[in-house]
Amino acid sequence: MSFQSLGLSEPLLKAISKKGYETPSPIQEKAIPPVLEGRDVLASAQTGTGKTAGFTLPLLHYLSENPKEKFRPIRALILTPTRELAAQVYESVRDYSEFLNIKSAVIFGGVNQKPQVATLRRGVDVLVATPGRLLDLQNQNLLSIKRVEVFVLDEADRMLDMGFLRDIERVMKLMPDKRQNLMFSATFSKDIRKLANSILNNPVQVEA
Ligand code: AMP
Repeated sequence: MSFQSLGLSEPLLKAISKKGYETPSPIQEKAIPPVLEGRDVLASAQTGTGKTAGFTLPLLHYLSENPKEKFRPIRALILTPTRELAAQVYESVRDYSEFLNIKSAVIFGGVNQKPQVATLRRGVDVLVATPGRLLDLQNQNLLSIKRVEVFVLDEADRMLDMGFLRDIERVMKLMPDKRQNLMFSATFSKDIRKLANSILNNPVQVEA
C-alpha cells in the first residue's frame, strides 16, 4: 500500500515525502479511505500510531479539493484535550499543508489571547483548539464555528477524563448539524461509546 494509491493529491504527497514517510501506517491505511469518502469515522488508536496524519491528510485533501472562494470561515475544527497535544497536532497540520493554499491556527488557554485573535482575524481554514479557549473566544464573538464542515475529536478518552464532556456538548451546538465527524480514542469505555453515539452518524469503525 502506498500514499499514492490512497488517492491523496500531489501537494500532500510532496509534503509526505518531505517528512520522509514511505508507506502509510496501519491506522492511516484504514482511516484515510473512509474519511476521503466523507464518512464519519470512529478510530481506536494510541499515540505513536500515526493517527494524526490519519485524519489530517484526508481532511486537508477534502478542503483543498473543495475550495471556498469568497471568504474564509473555519471549515475544520480539531479539538484536543491539552495544549501540548494541540501544539503537536497544529505542527502536523502546518507541515502537511505546506504546499496547499490552506491556513491553519492553534488556540489554547494559559497564554495571552491577543496573538491568537490576530491570527484568527486573518482567516483560518483549519483550527486546532482546546475546548476552554475555544468557548472563551466564541463567547467573546472573536470566532465562529458555524461553518465547520469537518469536526475531529482527538484523544476523546482523555477529554472525558479531564472533565470536558459539557464543553464538548457546548461546542457541538455551535456547529452546523450537517458535517463530517471523526473521533479518535485509545480506549473504549461505556462513556466513550455514549459520546460516540451522540457525535457520529453511521460511523465506519477502524482500529490501528
Ligand atoms: P502520531 O501517532 O500521529 O502522534 O504520530 C507518531 C509519529 O509517527 C509522528 O512523529 C509522525 O511524524 C510519525 N509518522 C506518522 N505517519 C508516519 C508514516 N506513515 N511513516 C513514518 N512515520 C510516520
